[in-house]
Amino acid sequence: IRGMEVLRNNRLNKGMAFTLKERQMLGIHGLLPPVFFTQDQQAKRVMAEFGRWGSDLDRYIYISSLQDRNEKLFYKVLCENIEECMPIVYTPTVGQACQNWGKIFRKPKGLYITIHDAGHVYDILGNWPDQEVKAIVITDGERILGLGDLGAYGMGIPVGKLALYTALGGVKPEYCLPICVDVGTNNRTLLDDKYYFGLRHKRVTGPVYDDLIQEIMEAIVKRFGQDTLVQFEDFGNHNAFRFKEKYKHQYCTFNDDIQGTASVVVAGILAAKRIVNKPLKDNLYLMQGAGEANLGIATLLAMAMEKEGLTHEEALERIWMVDSKGLLVKNRPKGGITPEKAPFARDHEPIDIFGDVVKALKPTCLIGAAAMAGSFTEEILKDMASYNDRPLIFALSNPTSKAECTAEEAYHFTEGRAVFASGSPFDPVTYGDKTFYPGQGNNAYIFPGMALGVISCGVRHVRNHYFLFASEALANLVTEAHLAEGRLYPPLTDIRDISVQIAVSIADHAYEQKYAAYYPEPEDKEAFIRSHLYSFAYENFEPITWNLPEAAYLGE
Ligand code: NAP
Ligand code: MN
Repeated sequence: IRGMEVLRNNRLNKGMAFTLKERQMLGIHGLLPPVFFTQDQQAKRVMAEFGRWGSDLDRYIYISSLQDRNEKLFYKVLCENIEECMPIVYTPTVGQACQNWGKIFRKPKGLYITIHDAGHVYDILGNWPDQEVKAIVITDGERILGLGDLGAYGMGIPVGKLALYTALGGVKPEYCLPICVDVGTNNRTLLDDKYYFGLRHKRVTGPVYDDLIQEIMEAIVKRFGQDTLVQFEDFGNHNAFRFKEKYKHQYCTFNDDIQGTASVVVAGILAAKRIVNKPLKDNLYLMQGAGEANLGIATLLAMAMEKEGLTHEEALERIWMVDSKGLLVKNRPKGGITPEKAPFARDHEPIDIFGDVVKALKPTCLIGAAAMAGSFTEEILKDMASYNDRPLIFALSNPTSKAECTAEEAYHFTEGRAVFASGSPFDPVTYGDKTFYPGQGNNAYIFPGMALGVISCGVRHVRNHYFLFASEALANLVTEAHLAEGRLYPPLTDIRDISVQIAVSIADHAYEQKYAAYYPEPEDKEAFIRSHLYSFAYENFEPITWNLPEAAYLGE
């Protein structure tokens, strides 16, 4: 392609970084201001502009339109400014973007498949311009972050997650496809909004809904191949567990809310092991909430303890859970024990109040993921400090306003002895003469590297224990210096290298267990993984030219 089309193509466009020769050759000379910038200069200009906007939502709109104009520059800016850009492109601002999706909509992103398209999903996939899709993030918008049902506005989530696949995991953008399945919404406000651009009816459920998801999975395989990775994201609790089980042996799929969360939290617990100086199996874990997050964590934690030598039963016994009906015990009069929760129901008297459970069990580790703000009270934290030299406190509920306790509370009410991590970021806390840097158990530590490893090697199924390998790889990257500062995770700025290390560990295990489809097996796994990484450096459009000896080809 030539001329204006080049500038309109976000994958080719380099804006004022086109050289004079390129401008002349491509027929775009004069279509740009006369000045030339390097990509570095462009990136600096973008960040200056980024800082000038007054709100995070404005920054989201700005950076997202850069993605539409100049993809390589977008990724350069994202990769080189992870700490500033991640909270915009991803949580928390992406949540606000979804809520306002109808207002901030400029250029369409991703693929919308509605319940009324049943029977034609394959045709819709055929409309996607990229032929070589290898990774899909799919949502039905029913439980967007902690914000609930946002219907078709949920598209922001797959778009944001896949931007991190590329920025943090080095997965090429042309391999990535965001899908939003629109089956309606139960969100009254949206249904009453005349500008809402999703389907104007309540959610369709039951077999019709299941059949659509099934058709989508089959169409994905038919269009893009059996080894296409499908990440389920922000489905309602009930559907999330069902599809995870239904598809785990049939497709290459995982659920980030369940398995990705589990992986990052278990990594934190593995890192904390070096602070408390005892194996995972010597802890007693009490979890508040028995939903996607905590059931995922509990399952993976049990696997980690089995690796330390416990039987499956013994491992389960070290984990206790509390849900909205109180302590999870067998034959609970209040019931509510779903098949997913059943393995964690203990033989014990029912206890309704969380603080009473803490007193009764004297756990060594508290994990909160019930979105019950402030539920780790001063009394509970002080109790934990009285039972344990170094109590482990994970306050995972997001956003910050939902956290079980703040970092400040965790350190202050335990005399600075808490080993603390949270779902949302907290500023450093000074207690006595020490400053603590609380860890953020952000799923972004795991899923980009997992995706990179899986698609590079052609892993057929993302088995649950891959998430444990990822946890171990991540925990191994936590240095003694990090631990001394109270960090259970390496700094976010290292995340691109972390993703590569996670991908390498996935590759190692996938080949060992004959789950990798890519052959021959690469000898140097790290070099192999790195050879797949996306580069945001601009392409050179000037042809390489050379001369032939005139005498050899000239006629007389
Ligand atoms: P979910 O599937 O809806 O589960 C919520 C759980 O909390 C349910 O088991 C519910 O009980 C329980 N619950 C509700 N009220 C309770 C109460 N008063 N006392 C005790 N338990 C109660 O949600 P989820 O996906 O697990 O997410 C939960 C929270 O974790 C959210 O705030 C989310 O932002 C956060 N999260 C953080 C991360 C991270 O930091 N990396 C990752 C994922 C999720 P029932 O089962 O009885 O209804
Ligand atoms: Mn999610």
